[in-house]
Amino acid sequence: MTTPSAAATKAAVLVEALPYIQRWQDRIVVVKYGGNALAGGGGRDALASFASDIVLLRSVGMHPVVVHGGGPQIAALLGRLGIGTEFVRGLRVTDAQTLDVVRMVLLGQVNPDLVAAINVHGPLAVGLSGADSRLLTTRAVDPALGFVGEVTAVNRTVLDQLLTQRLIPVVATIGADASGQAHNVNADTAAGAIAAAVGAEKLIYLTDVEGLRRDVGDPASVLSAVTADELSALVSDGTITAGMIPKVEACVRAVRGGVRQAHILDGRVLHALLLEVFTDQGVGTMITA
Ligand code: ADP
Ligand code: MG
Repeated sequence: MTTPSAAATKAAVLVEALPYIQRWQDRIVVVKYGGNALAGGGGRDALASFASDIVLLRSVGMHPVVVHGGGPQIAALLGRLGIGTEFVRGLRVTDAQTLDVVRMVLLGQVNPDLVAAINVHGPLAVGLSGADSRLLTTRAVDPALGFVGEVTAVNRTVLDQLLTQRLIPVVATIGADASGQAHNVNADTAAGAIAAAVGAEKLIYLTDVEGLRRDVGDPASVLSAVTADELSALVSDGTITAGMIPKVEACVRAVRGGVRQAHILDGRVLHALLLEVFTDQGVGTMITA
């Protein structure tokens, strides 16, 4: 049986959430779920916990849009196939063969796994790629990177239609250029572009680190709040490296493009998303313009 004090704690938690529930009513929240958070220790539990958090956001009146990566899952299949891979400035060099693997993993494995985990709770999630309804139009970033695309346009129509129906879009970031050529788009960058295009209130990155560190090697150096200008300086001075670069650049662009707040949170912590959205406790790093 629940003791009175435990019940009081639960009531306090719900009451604390009330102003946030009211404030975020009908607002769009873009959540990027990193492949590393997905692959992290928690496994199926982490996926199920993420899925129920997303459903909770939707149930209290927010409009979540999920954008996902799949780096470790792509690396695993490339490894099994004996295909080598190389990164330049955090972007995977993508030849035709690698592009096939990227598409197989994102559209055949990661996206349907996320959709299925959410749909345990009801007929809620719809999986789509950037090629669907021309959600993400792309162009090649640099011939040296192969089929890596940058987003030139976001067509929000399909997202608006799904959100109007109170469905949860789950986006795999494969885009297509004007000729229909598929491109591998960095999921961090795509999430930022989508957040700005739909006028999201929040853009949240769930990754495998507690937040943005002032000193990469020091877990105690997590910055709780930082502005876009400060972030640009941290990229220039080498504080931010590897997979954090596209995240931070996307946060800067998104908050300058009208998104009120961007957050980098530890997706390995169960319910980090709920802590950020519904409590007074600051978790991870918050980025504002
Ligand atoms: P995801 O799958 O979430 O995109 P990434 O590995 O691409 O994950 O990016 C997160 C990683 O970025 C962290 O695990 C960390 O190794 C690296 N990183 C680089 N610079 C920093 C920094 N200043 N603070 C925190 N993490 C950083
Ligand atoms: Mg990454």
